[in-house]
Amino acid sequence: MKMSKLFVQTLREFPSDAEVISHKMLGRAGFIKKLAPGIYTFMPLMWKVLKKIENIVREEMDRAGAQELLMPFVQPKELWEESGRWEVYGKELMRLKDRHDRDMCLGPTHEEIITSVARDSLKSYKQLPVNLYQIQSKFRDEIRPRYGLLRGREFIMKDAYSFDLDEEGLDKEYQNMAQAYKRIFERCGLETKMVQSDSGAIGGSVSHEFMVITDTDAGENDVFYCNSCDYSANSNHAVSNLPDAVIDGKNYFAETKVLDTPNTHSIEELSEFLKIPSTLILKSLVYIIDKKPVIALIRADKAVEETKLMNAIGGIDIRIASSAEIAELMAEHGFDAIPGFIGPKGMKNVPIIADETVKDMKNFVVGINETDKHLVGANLSDLDIENLKYADIRLVEQGEFCPQCGKPLFVTKGIEVGNIFKLGTKYSKPMNAVYTDIEGKTHPYVMGCYGIGISRTAAAAVEAHYDEYGIKWSVAIAPYHVVIVPVNINDNEQMQIAENMYQELQKAGIEVVLDDRDERAGVKFKDADLIGFPYRVTVGKTISEGLVEFKVRQTGEQEKLSPEKAVEKLIENIKKNL
Ligand code: ATP
Ligand code: MG
Repeated sequence: MKMSKLFVQTLREFPSDAEVISHKMLGRAGFIKKLAPGIYTFMPLMWKVLKKIENIVREEMDRAGAQELLMPFVQPKELWEESGRWEVYGKELMRLKDRHDRDMCLGPTHEEIITSVARDSLKSYKQLPVNLYQIQSKFRDEIRPRYGLLRGREFIMKDAYSFDLDEEGLDKEYQNMAQAYKRIFERCGLETKMVQSDSGAIGGSVSHEFMVITDTDAGENDVFYCNSCDYSANSNHAVSNLPDAVIDGKNYFAETKVLDTPNTHSIEELSEFLKIPSTLILKSLVYIIDKKPVIALIRADKAVEETKLMNAIGGIDIRIASSAEIAELMAEHGFDAIPGFIGPKGMKNVPIIADETVKDMKNFVVGINETDKHLVGANLSDLDIENLKYADIRLVEQGEFCPQCGKPLFVTKGIEVGNIFKLGTKYSKPMNAVYTDIEGKTHPYVMGCYGIGISRTAAAAVEAHYDEYGIKWSVAIAPYHVVIVPVNINDNEQMQIAENMYQELQKAGIEVVLDDRDERAGVKFKDADLIGFPYRVTVGKTISEGLVEFKVRQTGEQEKLSPEKAVEKLIENIKKNL
């Protein structure tokens, strides 16, 4: 490819709406062009990168025994009603009507479709197991499309679905996919961590995410991990052992009684007023889960992890209650306490979820729904709560200990590039997708699903490999492997050598760009760095000594070589890294 013909326009500035590195770099280097929020055109350079990632994914999925198909992008409502998700999938599901007024949606994911495909074809135990996958654009009307390709509304995903006879088969396929994922991300030049995670709206019981660990702002997930063993988990799923703390207030409160605690609206104010550690306070928080109030109880030095709380109720949508909603809830139960003095006592019509650690608290302090008062020296048994359920709803924090080995946990940011889920019979059961066993009995398939964000992986690769000058693609997913830069295109000797190398490399199957533009060398170098070609060969003045300059983008290493040696070295290095 000649640079003069390459359909790319690099910009002087980063796009004004770009917050994170990958969005800035891909925008400025001309890889993507925004059409609407979260919707991008993949320009030729980007499309080459995406196709390379797709092909790595294809090769590894095929190698792992999966088969590729392609399902429709527009889906009818009826299947989503069968699974029960039409009503519960939130506004991310882009719903539309066809000309006959039939409800349809744009595919955000394909569990319903694949399950219907399977139930029509996979009837006998003899046909199982099967793993089917596709690579396709998805649409999710994300509430905050941002960070460019990291969280788009239209984006490319590989989604795979496995069908097994039983749990044992699923376990095996789950491991098989985990191995395939490791190979895929390794080949893309990405270091990933496989972490335990919440199963979210897709459902199922066990799931893991593949995270690209990053120190940039782009990591939307907190990942807790242990350096002494292999424990690592998304914060929405992480658990920990707590350091010792005062959780029995017997030395502070000789008896259980109501105390005046005027103006103690916050935990700090209350613990200061009572001269007690906050570990002796039971905090009561009101949430709205699927439009209904829920009270969460947690030791006051800890925070609630909202996904865990939502799962404890089996909900799909959660937010903290407004003060108006709290006032309404109080009034419904005959109280008029303001926030800061709320408690579980007498809240008969609301589910109350206490964190597991609350079980161990004794003689503590708790709100009793009376403004400016608290009950001290209290125990949960004093409060007479019928609708109480215990669950782990606590957000893990740095400084707590590994649940597996007891060593300190660390936290870092991660970009989720892929995930694997054990779905079990979550879709096959309601959709009556069954196979017949050897005795003629029917069973729902035991399913798994496995996603990889193709376009997000490309952006994550930029987050992982860049410098102030631009992108540093790894060879396997770079749009082109090499750029040859003749410093002066009007110098016949330089152009001749550059042209020869270009031909030689092309013959060897190397993807090479010849920068034949009549531009200053500085401009060409800048573009080369910005676009991120893994190798650059400069043909300049030293050609009179028979030498060209060979430069490695990732490391910055450079050396002077003869053109023949440079071609040889390029072919060798590139083939090794493909
Ligand atoms: P997230 O928590 O980041 O929203 P998710 O749990 O919704 O991801 P899945 O529904 O399992 O993700 O989708 C599979 C993969 O698709 C994810 O691992 C991610 O790589 C990618 N993906 C999901 N949503 C987006 C998006 N809005 N833009 C780009 N890629 C996405
Ligand atoms: Mg999502």
